[in-house]
This record gives sequence, C-alpha cells and structure tokens, in this order.
Amino acid sequence: MASENTQLGFSTRAIHIGQEPDPGTGATVTPIYQTSTFTWSSLGSPPHYMYSRLANPTRTAFEKCLASLEGEGASGYAFPSGMAAVAAAFSILKPGDHALIMSDLYGGTYRYCEKILTARGVKYSYFDAGDIESVEKSFQPETRMIWLESPSNPLLRVVDLAALAKVAHRHNALAVVDNTFASPYFQNPLELCIDIVIHSTTKYIGGHSDLIGGAVVTRNPELMAAIELVQTVGGSIAGPFDCWLALRGLKTLAVRMEKHASNAMAVALFLSQHPKVSRVYYPGLKSDPGHKLALRQMRGFGGMVSFEVEGGAEKAVSVSESTRIFALAESLGGIESLIGYPVRMSHATMSPGERAKRGINDNLIRLSIGLEDTEDLIADLKQALG
Ligand SMILES: *Cc1c(COP(=O)(O)O)cnc(C)c1O
Repeated sequence: MASENTQLGFSTRAIHIGQEPDPGTGATVTPIYQTSTFTWSSLGSPPHYMYSRLANPTRTAFEKCLASLEGEGASGYAFPSGMAAVAAAFSILKPGDHALIMSDLYGGTYRYCEKILTARGVKYSYFDAGDIESVEKSFQPETRMIWLESPSNPLLRVVDLAALAKVAHRHNALAVVDNTFASPYFQNPLELCIDIVIHSTTKYIGGHSDLIGGAVVTRNPELMAAIELVQTVGGSIAGPFDCWLALRGLKTLAVRMEKHASNAMAVALFLSQHPKVSRVYYPGLKSDPGHKLALRQMRGFGGMVSFEVEGGAEKAVSVSESTRIFALAESLGGIESLIGYPVRMSHATMSPGERAKRGINDNLIRLSIGLEDTEDLIADLKQALG
C-alpha cells in the first residue's frame, strides 16, 4: 500500500499515517478486521475491500504507515514472517540469474540461499561488501541483485549502502537491504537509492516479542507489482491480528529505539572496559571500524551489541548461561534483553569453516539490549562475566 504525506515528523507519521478514524464506527484505533470477506451492496458496486487475501483494512493501515516511515512515495507489503519477506524479494530473480550476497548475514537468509535459491536455479555468490573496490570484480554478466545487511548479523558491520547501490545500478542489478537491525527509525535505505527494503517485523517493529511478521518496502512501480503478486496471487500475507500488533509496535518505535540505543551504548562502553572482554562490536563506539560510516548513513546505532570473551568457547558458553536478566533465546528487538551464542544458535547451521571465513568466532556472544534499567543490565553482565 502506498504511503501518504511524509512531510510530518517520524513519530507523527508512526502514530497517524494510515490510521484515520474507522469510517464505519469512528473507532480511533484501527480495528482488527478479522474477516475473510466483505459484503457487496449490489453487483454494480463492488466494495473497495473484497477478500482479505487481496487486501484487508488492518493490513492496509500497517502497510501505509510502515511505507511512510521508509520514505515518500514508497509502498509497503506485509508478510507472515521476515523470511516470507526475504522470499518475496528473491522471487524477482529468475532461473539463470545471479545474486551477490553480502557474506555477513542473517543465518536464515544464508539457509534460504543454500536450500531454496539453489533449487530454483538461481545462482549466487558471497562477497565482502566492506571492500567497494573488490565488489566491482564480483559482478557476473547474470548478476541481477545484491543483498545487503547493515548493521549486519552478528558482527554489526556497517557497509556503505549509497556506494553499493550505485555499483549495483551500474551493473544493471537491484540493491536490497535487510533493514531489520536498524529499523526505519535509524536508517532509511530507500533514501540512499536502495531499491528494496525488507524487515523482519518480529524484531524492533513489533517490538514486544509476541508476533512473527515481515515486510517489503519499495518505491519502484515494477517491483511493487512483483511483490504484490507474491501477496495476492502467491497468498503470502500477514493476518489482521499480526498487522494490528505490528502497527501498534510502530507507534512507539521512536521512543523504544532511543532507549534500546542508549542502553546499548552504555553496555558497549562497559564491555569495552571489562578485562575478560577481548573485543566489542558496536557501531556507536568511536573505535568501531563502522563508526564514521554509521554517523553518515544512520541516525543512531541501534540496540544490538556483540562481543568476544577471553577464555574461548567454554567461557562464552558459561557467560551465555549465567545471566539472570538477559534471557538465553533466539531473536532480538523486543523490550526484554536477550543473550545469544551464535555458534550454537543463530549460526549453528553454518559450517565451522564458513563461520571462520566470516569472523564468527567461538568466543562470540550477541546481545539484544532491551528496555530494562541500564544499571541492572550492566550488573547482570558483570556477574555473568565473573
Ligand atoms: C529475524 C530476522 C529475519 C527473519 O525473520 P523472521 O521473522 O524470523 O522470519 C531476517 N533478517 C534478519 C536480520 C533477522 O534478524
């Protein structure tokens, strides 16, 4: 669904766009239209909404609102999971096409390429998106897409989205960004000439760890048509209740992201001074290799922090299992803090060799910093590190 006026500020858009009072009842909050179908008053006047696979008012409200947060003139499409959104974006590629995939990426997307892209006859190869010069050499005549994540998972690498979009376009390829980690509050890839943005709305957009969802946002009319086809004809749609939860999440996204980021900065600073921590990955740290670029292309550094501990895998496992406030769990972006050990969790299906190539070491721990009190989070990590 296309967005409307984006001249308003971020939070005003998040709270109002697509959310006029309900035309039927005046309900101030967009209702959950839990209906599969809509009644026609006569054959001569088909209703605007006919059947909920094609369009549903709760989904439309969420899609309009999200699109307005990614950029003027954009359209958004809600999917039943982040991976369904990933699949929708990849559906643009035909057998024989080639995709360049940033090597540092979400484990599920890695698995998607390995299991599904290959089976569809789409070729792909990994590339180091941090080295713009070598990117040029990675393109093949059939390359039609480059796939990016910034900040990436789990190493929080920041890559130059505007520069990479330019290289992609020079080679007649589309540029896709998985914007899940930054959320639209901190980063708008479409403004950097990226063609397609995808989100796992399960994470910061939903924000409360109580739904699975995804979204695709684009400004390109041809791509809009292709993505809409996956929804309306392919049948990959988010249900009304999940759209309602995701829309409710958007309303507080700005305040939540500010707190996620300030807590994350405090935790990153604490960890970087801890004797048992050998390395901290957080683009907000001045020492981080992505810091300068993040200042340029983001409005904040996000709520994810990764770090390496002295003492190898054994110590990393014991720290991961010793926190009391941080829950040992997959996922991220919720109000509660989570701790994860990528080698045994998010990146467990990647072979040790593939992990090593990407710098995902056995002593790496990933944190999703929640909205608890800063001092409590730091005290918890302090006792877990021992
Ligand atoms: C979680 C996640 C996904 C997949 O989303 P689901 O909602 O779990 O299907 C994709 N990309 C990133 C960066 C993620 O964190």
